[in-house]
Amino acid sequence: MLVKVCDNLYAFVWDDYTQNNCNAFLIDSSRRILIDPGHAHLFGHVQKGLETLGLTPSMIDVVLVTHGHPDHLESALLFKDPTQFAMSLTDYHFILELAGSAYKLPEPDFFLREGDLAIGDVTFEVIDTPGHTPGSVCLYWPARRALFSGDVVFPQGIGRTDLPGGSGPALKESIRRIMKLDADYLLSGHGEILAGRDEVARNFRTVEDYWFKYL
Ligand SMILES: [Zn+2]
Repeated sequence: MLVKVCDNLYAFVWDDYTQNNCNAFLIDSSRRILIDPGHAHLFGHVQKGLETLGLTPSMIDVVLVTHGHPDHLESALLFKDPTQFAMSLTDYHFILELAGSAYKLPEPDFFLREGDLAIGDVTFEVIDTPGHTPGSVCLYWPARRALFSGDVVFPQGIGRTDLPGGSGPALKESIRRIMKLDADYLLSGHGEILAGRDEVARNFRTVEDYWFKYL
């Protein structure tokens, strides 16, 4: 389902609960940025949304992923030069070691590092948020107060920490960091989109009250 979140920002919300795929997001600004394109065999869902906007995959300038799990990253393999690809260095090495040759990884053109990242007229804050995977990052776009939280935090929930490389204490610390941000939109890797500052703040409070004791 294609949703316009706000100016220049679209969500491809995954609504088939029988399959595991993530929400993908498009920033359509001076450069086109696709975040978490999802599983390769399920990419048709994103492609259809792009077509609705009059776009094709070859018109995407940069693909970014929040972490190295295939349900977020795999479709990055479908993009060819000159589309660039970036993920964190930590997750790149982590996934390479974990999966070996069983899982093909696209070669990053650059790595996502903690701090500011400018792509065209869009500047993100890249925030290291380990816990779900060792190299998970969240992307915060201050100009829209939009937080792309990957699998760190969801509406009413948190990312799994029982998978390889997971850590409950690290996830708790990561959530503590991102809950301080001034976010009007919580755009997480799975589940619905949360819009409105109060909604986002309420969700973080729920997560803190309910989930922190398990981490
Ligand atoms: Zn994941």
